[in-house]
Order: sequence, then C-alpha cells, then structure tokens
Amino acid sequence: MIIDYRSDTVTKPTPAMLEAMMKAKVGDDVFGEDPSINELEKLASDMFGMEAAIFCPSGTMTNQIAIKCHTQPGDEVICDESSHVYQYEGGGIAFNSGASVKLLLGNFGRITAEQVLAAIQPDDAHRAHTSLVSLENTSNRGGGSCYDFEEIKKIQAVCKEKNLAFHLDGARLWNALIAKNETPKQYGEAFDSISICLSKSLGCPVGSLLLGKKTFIKKARRIRKVFGGGMRQAGFIAAAGMYALQNNIQRLAEDHTHAKQIAAAIEKKEFVQLVLPVETNIIIFELHNSISASELVAKLKNYSILGYAISPNRVRLVVHLDISNEMVAKTIEAFNQL
Ligand SMILES: *Cc1c(COP(=O)(O)O)cnc(C)c1O
Repeated sequence: MIIDYRSDTVTKPTPAMLEAMMKAKVGDDVFGEDPSINELEKLASDMFGMEAAIFCPSGTMTNQIAIKCHTQPGDEVICDESSHVYQYEGGGIAFNSGASVKLLLGNFGRITAEQVLAAIQPDDAHRAHTSLVSLENTSNRGGGSCYDFEEIKKIQAVCKEKNLAFHLDGARLWNALIAKNETPKQYGEAFDSISICLSKSLGCPVGSLLLGKKTFIKKARRIRKVFGGGMRQAGFIAAAGMYALQNNIQRLAEDHTHAKQIAAAIEKKEFVQLVLPVETNIIIFELHNSISASELVAKLKNYSILGYAISPNRVRLVVHLDISNEMVAKTIEAFNQL
C-alpha cells in the first residue's frame, strides 16, 4: 500500500464517479454543444451567484486566462510572493499577459488591504499601471492557510475605490469554505473572477472552472481558444466535476481532521523545527539542520509514504480523498518510529 501525500492531485476517480462519467451526454463544446459542460458551468455559477463560468483543462489555465482578461501589457498585478500565479505557472503572467508583478510578503500567503493600498503605483508615466489584485485561498505555500473573510472585504473595498480588478485563485477554495464555514455566494459577491479546481481535493481526474460576469466569460472563451484550451467532447470530464460538486465537498472536513492528526505526530519529533499552522488539508513542516527535506522524504519512502521536499528544509504532505483512516494510522505509526 502506497500512501501518497505528494499532492491532492493524485486521486483517482471512484467507481461512482466513473459511472457518472460513462453516462455523460456529450457534444462539441467549442460549438457550445456539450450538455454536460453547459450543465456544470451553470451549476458552478449558480453556486457562487455569479453570472457565468467556463470549464478549462487546468487551474493554471483558468488563472492565466483571468489575468489576461483583466490586464494590458505593461500593467502590474499585485499578489503575495508565494502565490501560485507567480511561483508555479512558468512565468505565465509575463509570457501570456506581458504584465509585471508586485510581490507582497504576506502572513502564510495572506496579504492585507493595507499592504495592497500601499503597493498601488501612483498615476505617473514612469510607473507600471496597477490593474489587478490576485489572492489565493487556501494558500498552497502558506500551508493551506485560509483568509479571514473580513480582510477580503477590505481588499475588495480598496479595489473598488482604486478601480482594480479582483481575482481569486481558489484552487482549494472548497477547503477554506469547509474549514471556515463560509459559502460560495460570499465569494461570488466579493470577486470579479474566481478560479476553482475540481482535480484537487474534490477528486476529479481533470478540470477547473473560471467564474465571472457574462462579458468577462465571453472574453475568457476567446482567450481559452487562443491558449489552445478549447475542448471538444469534454463532457465526460465535466460529468466527473458535476459528481464532485454534488458529493465530495462536505467530506473535506475528514481530510482536515486527518491532517491535524498527522501534524500532531510530526510536532513531537525532535528533528522538526516548526509545523506551519494546519487549517485545512496541507501539512508543511520545517526540519532542524540534522536532516534535510530530501533525506526525510527518502526515509518516509521506506514506510511506503510519499511526501514532497518543497525546499531544502521543508516537507509538504497533502491529505486527500484517497487517504483512508488506516493510512493515517500507519503514517502516525511511522513518524513515531522515525
Ligand atoms: C494546483 C494549483 C493551481 C492549478 O494547478 P493546475 O495543476 O494547473 O490545475 C492553481 N493555484 C493553486 C494555489 C494551486 O495549488
């Protein structure tokens, strides 16, 4: 038995999800004729109280489309220095949008309205034109940390006042909603665009959605085509998304409990310097000099446990749908022995 904590993207479709996929009605989505995709886009936009949605192959694509739609070349995007849009999308902001980035040092990936306000460029020909603020909730590099919704509202107010677009990278927004007992509609009201992933904690094989106003999504559809993301009979994967939205959200609480149980065992180890606060399904811990992250990952492998060295001294474990109670017990046992 391999216990795979490298990412919550490693999940495989369950028999029930596969059955939903097999039964999907499909058509050519580039012609707008795939009933399953149309249904998924409608369900998601209704959940968030937003006007429209577009189904895409990845969260990187939904983020990059959003940034492209919200900016012009030479504009500047404000985000936390650890943001996925900056760190893990291949320099896509520059490549796709020709925009520059203003990085802020947040608190475990979370920035404040005060920081945003101070980072907006003055209206001066020497300066880049600030046009977009992008938040990430939960924050990946922040160890699955969640925003305080009051802060989001304050940032929204700054964006409104300063005429900036406001985007959310909500790859793991579902985890935040469950952990903080919040609703999709709150988020739909706060942001101009939201990117959500179905292939992370919700257990789908592929797929992300971008949500926004009708005019924005119309533009996004054009950009998706330009980026090569127009799909044909993709209703088979949209059906997995429908199944996930209907069945796999509430169970995320279980992943959060598992993550806290594992973190408690990790905290006791003398080779561990620090465990980032565990709010959702991600555990990031920092090691003392006695052992490197890659050495510890190699040791865990002897127990059939897979983790990920995210830096020379930090290891990340991500809990997900395919992690059972039994696997968690085995993991705790392994850490006790290490
Ligand atoms: C995984 C992830 C994405 C999207 O990744 P894809 O692999 O392109 O689907 C975006 N943002 C965050 C924070 C992520 O963790």
